[in-house]
Amino acid sequence: MLIAANWKMNGSADFAKDLASKIISPGGDVKVLICPPTPYLSAVKAELGDGIYLGGQDCHDQAEGAYTGSTAAGMLEDVGCEYVLVGHSERRSMCHENDKMVSSKARAAKEAGLIPVICVGEKLESREAGEHLEVVKSQIKHSVPDGFVSDDYVLAYEPVWAIGTGKTASIDDINEMHNTIRAQIGPGVDILYGGSVKAANAADILSLNNVGGVLVGGASLNADEFNAIIKAGILD
Ligand code: PEP
Repeated sequence: MLIAANWKMNGSADFAKDLASKIISPGGDVKVLICPPTPYLSAVKAELGDGIYLGGQDCHDQAEGAYTGSTAAGMLEDVGCEYVLVGHSERRSMCHENDKMVSSKARAAKEAGLIPVICVGEKLESREAGEHLEVVKSQIKHSVPDGFVSDDYVLAYEPVWAIGTGKTASIDDINEMHNTIRAQIGPGVDILYGGSVKAANAADILSLNNVGGVLVGGASLNADEFNAIIKAGILD
């Protein structure tokens, strides 16, 4: 069970340190992952308690070189990250990242000793056309590098239309997609759900068989709200 926070491009150094210091340690089988903005990684790391891991929000697929503004996976590892998000829908749409690039980033992450959280999810038009299962299966096929085994990665299913919109996929929709993904990738990989997860809906989502955690954006910026989601994970 992994309860992950994506703070995106929010906050300040003071905000990040304060929020990180308030996050509860989960204990047991539950892990918590915090992905703050890159400049605050080290400061956040210093505040994290037991069972709380640090992650980047993205990495480059090359180990070093003339890639102005980018961060190598090895650099994330250097400052204490254990995970990195790759292929978040905001990067797929705003930075034109395709499955091939996501796969290269996931491979670079693994080579640097990180666990990539590989994000996939359909747009609203694909769901309305009834193509959501095929779209996500294709994203997974091309975004998860050949040869990756279950310990190498975490998968996050995040329907694009549910991210930051306040619209959560229905429990039936999440169940259908997560069962389909499980049949495709086999046992052992944590499959996170993301898309407007909050304290009020976390327990229902986390109770589903093939949901191995959640990836939380907006609600992770509030310590009380995020701690309530962690507690829902502990109780599950
Ligand atoms: C996300 O950014 O991964 C996300 C799921 O955001 P939100 O929880 O705000 O929908």
